[in-house]
Amino acid sequence: MSACAQCGKELEHDEIAITQKLVNRGTERFYCTRCLAEKFKISEEDVRRLIENFKAAGCSLFSC
Ligand SMILES: [Zn+2]
Repeated sequence: MSACAQCGKELEHDEIAITQKLVNRGTERFYCTRCLAEKFKISEEDVRRLIENFKAAGCSLFSC
């Protein structure tokens, strides 16, 4: 199980996938929703919405 590179929180699959989307696909450092929000100066709600959008678009990183 991967942990957030910043706060050490255990990560959900969606958080790993959205990190790959927002940072880059080959990244080996993953972040939780809260740390991603801080990093990109958006709200946690925005991160959740992005996850939903990518899922709705059928992005292959988000295997359900
Ligand atoms: Zn974190």
